[in-house]
Amino acid sequence: MLEIEFEEPIEEICECCGNTTTKLTRFIYKDDDAFGIYYAQFTKDHERKNVKGLISLGDWGTDITSSRVSFLFNLWLDNQDYNIEILDANDSPWKNEILGKLLTRNEALHHSWVKEVYHITDHIVLEDEVLIKYLNNTK
Ligand SMILES: [Zn+2]
Repeated sequence: MLEIEFEEPIEEICECCGNTTTKLTRFIYKDDDAFGIYYAQFTKDHERKNVKGLISLGDWGTDITSSRVSFLFNLWLDNQDYNIEILDANDSPWKNEILGKLLTRNEALHHSWVKEVYHITDHIVLEDEVLIKYLNNTK
């Protein structure tokens, strides 16, 4: 069973346009074990309404980061359907060592945990209300 723990959103000013960027940090538990974290961010009034995120999976119950790998993704809503694409994590805005290896798009798509990534994004679009609200606000 997958559970997500939600931190308070952090707001910053976007360097490119001065609008508000919202940054989210979430902890993922699988059967009560620390299984991963994800970060997500979006900026109000950017031309393209999308959320960029990074999911880091592996052993999050230790300080050892070598078991962890990170998947970068882009999420958007198109005619009521959520779309997700995996991106090259070398372009990630998140680059902390604790995230483990940042996977290229090709590595990510062939990684055995990519199905976990899609499982997590299924939860994200149902449970992460801050992000859901942003993507569904048609104003
Ligand atoms: Zn901007």
